Amino acid sequence: MNTAITAFDGFVMVSEDKEFKFKNLCPYCKGNLTYRPYGWETDDNGLWMAVSFDVDCSTEPDMEEEEEWDYWFQNHSEMPYVIQMPVDEGVKKYINRKYRFNLKS
Ligand SMILES: [Zn+2]
Repeated sequence: MNTAITAFDGFVMVSEDKEFKFKNLCPYCKGNLTYRPYGWETDDNGLWMAVSFDVDCSTEPDMEEEEEWDYWFQNHSEMPYVIQMPVDEGVKKYINRKYRFNLKS
């Protein structure tokens, strides 16, 4: 894995599998959120920026703990466009202000 970080045009270049962790950011439970980019677009200079992310909340229980998980999911699915989306949008802006990605292919 290439972990070398170089600045390019003021951006920090990172590999496409970089994870971004934010403490206490979950709007539902104040857990830590981990964002993993999976969708890409080029900026005006042909550098890759991330446009889609998988998000994990640190308090998510094991899927096998059905009851616990259902409860967690109910707690994390209320009005996502109002509650979760602004958080995601903020993170996306933050990441793309600072980082560009080295895609493997
Ligand atoms: Zn949460």
